[in-house]
Amino acid sequence: MLRTLLLLLSGVGPAPRPKLMVVITVDQLRRDYLDRYRTQLNGGLAMLVKQGADFTEAYQDHAVTETAPGHATILSGRWPAHTGIIRNNVGVQDSTAPLVGLTGPGASPARFRGTALFDWLQAAEPKARALSVSRKDRGAILPIGRARQQVYWYQSGFFTTSRYYADSLPLWVRQFNGRRIPFRAAGTVWTLLLPERAYPEPDSEPYENGGRDVTFPHRLPADSALAAIAYAGIPAMDSLTLAFALEGVRTLGLGGRGATDLLAVSLSTTDAVGHAYGPDSREIHDQVVRLDRYLGWFLQQLFVRYGKENVLVVLTADHGVTPFPERSRALGHSGAVRVVPDSMLDSVNAALDRRAGGAAWLQFDTGLLLLTGRATLVARGVDVDSVLADVAARLRALAGVARVDRPADLARRDTTDAVVRRWVHQVPPDAGVELVVTLKPYAVWSYAGGPAIAMHGQPSDWDAHVPLLLFGRGVKRGAYGGRVNTVDIAPTLARLLDLTPAEPLDGRVLAEALEGKP
Ligand SMILES: [Zn+2]
Repeated sequence: MLRTLLLLLSGVGPAPRPKLMVVITVDQLRRDYLDRYRTQLNGGLAMLVKQGADFTEAYQDHAVTETAPGHATILSGRWPAHTGIIRNNVGVQDSTAPLVGLTGPGASPARFRGTALFDWLQAAEPKARALSVSRKDRGAILPIGRARQQVYWYQSGFFTTSRYYADSLPLWVRQFNGRRIPFRAAGTVWTLLLPERAYPEPDSEPYENGGRDVTFPHRLPADSALAAIAYAGIPAMDSLTLAFALEGVRTLGLGGRGATDLLAVSLSTTDAVGHAYGPDSREIHDQVVRLDRYLGWFLQQLFVRYGKENVLVVLTADHGVTPFPERSRALGHSGAVRVVPDSMLDSVNAALDRRAGGAAWLQFDTGLLLLTGRATLVARGVDVDSVLADVAARLRALAGVARVDRPADLARRDTTDAVVRRWVHQVPPDAGVELVVTLKPYAVWSYAGGPAIAMHGQPSDWDAHVPLLLFGRGVKRGAYGGRVNTVDIAPTLARLLDLTPAEPLDGRVLAEALEGKP
């Protein structure tokens, strides 16, 4: 009250809120790429680094560094242990929410617990709206939490949503799909953006992309339906996602109704290229340079539309990536193995089936060993703790495994050990997680018959270190070298917009980068 009165008397109102808040998540964008390619960046990434607040030591500070858990931290301000999104593949899976107009896996935020930034925004500004767009369902869904807003992702050449959000697609989405851009790209090639001498990496590495199509140029299939699927793995997919987002911004008139609206965009090609070719490839180099140019064009469009001072921008990533195991081994890191615990766990499940009936008691997912039906097993006379102790011993014996812990033991330990801290941030006490498994440096998880790709998912700095860039009115430009986390993004945006989070958060306000906030 007093503050309002003083502001009125001084003739200076509170700083107007931005018309649009843009939250960009680049799937698998490692922080070190921004430094490695710095001299060649002159687009959106370069603009955000030079004109924004650049947190050079930012982390997805949890253990299962995967797409779904990572996306869920960004606008919730909470660790996976508190969002409930602890696994990637089942993170948004929901057979009760089928896709609209297409066949493909149904998806919704049903497993997401609690609130996210958009809920706090809408509580303060009921007119506020959100548009969230990605190539991946989980990349589009999780930044928005449970809100039923405009949420779209890509499936086999088309953008769609699920029945959780809508029963039909709006005209603008159908019209965009009707242009059939990915289908019309059949037979086109992905060439280097810059002259070849700008790329010091070797192009022809036999381990890349399963040994096929390892050198530039990379050609899309001649068949249009196959091209629309392969389109998901080339740089143009990011450009298409941004164009789709801009079409939504225009059609929905975001930022035009007096409230701050939220645009969330998750760009997935860096992840696709990073998996197939690795973080040290010529392909990832070209992808990041192209991404920088696309983002420059995209942000420029928004600045022209709203005025630069009316757009608040955040850019981060959901996780990083570990070097390609074959490359690491060639460099002398003999521990760079793919660890496959499937057959061992299958034999334990088979033994449990013989003793107690049922199947798949134990499930394994990226370092998490889950047990369903512990009480049933105990009732049928199984000594569950001794079974788990045996499984732990057999996991420890696998080449590439560094440690196996019980979550309950870690919760009692101090959290200065990054691995311990990241597991504590990861596992909710009620999730049925019995053991957590950490790999040695350079080792990665795989599964029986799994592809020979580069991987992430470890509580390592390679997989956890991400960019965190803020740009907009109220943000002090500069490089900030203190350790911060992606859970700090939501409380910081809430402070910038004078919003009150609806629940306790794990992150803090990055006040060091905010101008004179009381
Ligand atoms: Zn990935």
